[in-house]
Amino acid sequence: METEFVHCFGIKKTILAGLSLEELRELLKPLPAFRAKQIFRWLTRGVRSFNDMTDISCTVREALEKRFSLYSSVISQRLSDSDGTVKIQLTLEDGGTIESVLLSDGKERKTACISTQVGCAMGCVFCKTGGVGFRRNVSAGEIIEQFLHLRSIAAFSNVVIMGMGEPLLNLSALREALDFIVGGNAIGVADESLSKRRITVSTSGIIAGIHDLADNGPYIRLAVSLTTADEAQREKLMPVTRTNPLPLLKKALMYYQRKTPKRITMEAALLRNINTSRKHADLLAEFAQGLDVVVNVIPWNPVAGLRLEGVPLQEPDKAESERFIAALQRRGMNVTTRFKKGRSVAGACGQLG
Ligand code: SAH
Ligand code: SF4
Repeated sequence: METEFVHCFGIKKTILAGLSLEELRELLKPLPAFRAKQIFRWLTRGVRSFNDMTDISCTVREALEKRFSLYSSVISQRLSDSDGTVKIQLTLEDGGTIESVLLSDGKERKTACISTQVGCAMGCVFCKTGGVGFRRNVSAGEIIEQFLHLRSIAAFSNVVIMGMGEPLLNLSALREALDFIVGGNAIGVADESLSKRRITVSTSGIIAGIHDLADNGPYIRLAVSLTTADEAQREKLMPVTRTNPLPLLKKALMYYQRKTPKRITMEAALLRNINTSRKHADLLAEFAQGLDVVVNVIPWNPVAGLRLEGVPLQEPDKAESERFIAALQRRGMNVTTRFKKGRSVAGACGQLG
């Protein structure tokens, strides 16, 4: 059977990454099913070339090479920060580029940060991706490829959908990709419910998308980039607020939490002298009332040229961030802080693009 396969060459190379085991089995016929399984296992470990599939004979590997490609995207740049962060830039088939990041907590834990759009249409004034503008959605296959490319650098146990783009505006591709990642055990956690708990999707606050997630799953962790609970200010910082106002966003989050009782993360990128006053802490705490939330404070990662109403944005100093955190804690909020990971490779939050 393998001989027959070796002599059957196609013309256009088919991409293998992202196919399910069943699809692979079908495609690779007349290769026996166990071969498909071997290849699938290699793929989910982020293998770099057919040659690295060491339990497959040379002749079959060569035949595979002629008919198939592993990925549709290539790693066009790779940067490493001394804090353990690795950022890769992928060039897609149409020439578009996206970035994915492997974050390290300094101990064992690694987290993959994935992009869902080439650029982003939401235009948040403090985010580099927002300044790039929107080009297109990333396909399910391209989302999966980001996982696999990062997996070839190192195994990771957590996933955050917090790269470029608004994930809830590309939900069907994201769903398909997460099915593959969870179902194919690609992040190396066998228990499905456990893997879902290790996946976080961050949204700028797309109400329809939150309802869709609540009604149809997957029930992963939800993070909302609140930034500020001052509606008028949020409209300026995050134009998405105009069509997704805060009172309705809150209702959507309450609905989500009724459907899946998981703690929601509220992210707040802190901008010097803009959203760090006591009043802002009070408004945030008020917004969170009735929800089970943890606030994730992210001191703004500098991006040159970004402004609010003509004034250049600045990162808060340590004392300003600490005052804000203390004010939240006095209101009984759970707070975590994300400091400066990956800054030297422009791989920190809001620096992609
Ligand atoms: N588009 C999604 C996910 C990607 S942004 C979203 O907006 O939620 C990931 C997080 O980084 C968001 O919480 C966003 O508010 C924050 N962020 C954007 N630019 C930033 C910057 N320059 N410094 C710090 N955080 C930033
Ligand atoms: Fe898009 Fe998120 Fe950046 Fe806003 S913060 S522009 S939603 S990537």
